Amino acid sequence: MSAILEIDGLVKRFGGLLATDNVSLTVNTGEIHALIGPNGAGKSTLINQLCGELTPDEGRIRLNGRDVTGMTVPDRVAMGLGRTFQITNLLDDSTVRENIAMAVLALEGHNFRIWDNILRRRSIWNQADALLTGTPLESRAHVQVSGLSHGERKQLELLVALARKPRLLLLDEPMAGLGHVESQEMITRLQEIGQTTPMLLVEHDMDAVFALATRISVLVYGRIIASGTVDHIRTNPEVREAYLGAEDELC
Ligand code: ADP
Ligand code: MG
Repeated sequence: MSAILEIDGLVKRFGGLLATDNVSLTVNTGEIHALIGPNGAGKSTLINQLCGELTPDEGRIRLNGRDVTGMTVPDRVAMGLGRTFQITNLLDDSTVRENIAMAVLALEGHNFRIWDNILRRRSIWNQADALLTGTPLESRAHVQVSGLSHGERKQLELLVALARKPRLLLLDEPMAGLGHVESQEMITRLQEIGQTTPMLLVEHDMDAVFALATRISVLVYGRIIASGTVDHIRTNPEVREAYLGAEDELC
């Protein structure tokens, strides 16, 4: 197993607040690595540094063996970093299919030439349709994003991220605001995607975390206090005390 993401000694300060406190963490190929921790622990701050939206004060980030610490967001995306947002980021006036096609186009767009315009468009729509096939959104392909439910938007956001063929997916709370059935659908979908695409998954829903994670790291006040398998984390007294408090949440 090789590392797709290596975080080494990452530090981020907001004034006097140490939001990321010497975080080191690895995501291997074939792994769904879950990052859990209470509100304000620094999960989103960490994800934003991995994406390139925030610059760390110290430490290194390597993607597929290459140092990306100083790279821009688009350069990281081009290197295979995919993400979804805690708040969705879609084109409301376009349809489901158009949103996916635009993401495919963004991936291919660099070589767009006028003379093979039509051909390329067909290939883009075909790729968009292939991404939609078999998903809960397949029957909603021509619906405008503004007409989707919250759960459908989350599904679409995932498809838009996948359209860019990421080598690593960063997911910030994909279950947030989903009902029970939608959560189950999302878990199934992430299990399928996890077969081929490694993930760093920030999630509060512990059922989802336990169902999906290969490994779990626990972040508290910017520091990783424990890292290990689901069983290791479930039974770790420090985790129970520092994070979960309510013991039965872990059972
Ligand atoms: P989480 O995602 O785990 O809930 P965040 O990463 O959003 O936590 O926040 C970690 C800490 O950093 C919090 O105390 C938060 O108030 C603070 N914080 C986050 N972003 C900023 C910012 N841009 N400026 C100042 N403080 C911030
Ligand atoms: Mg957050």
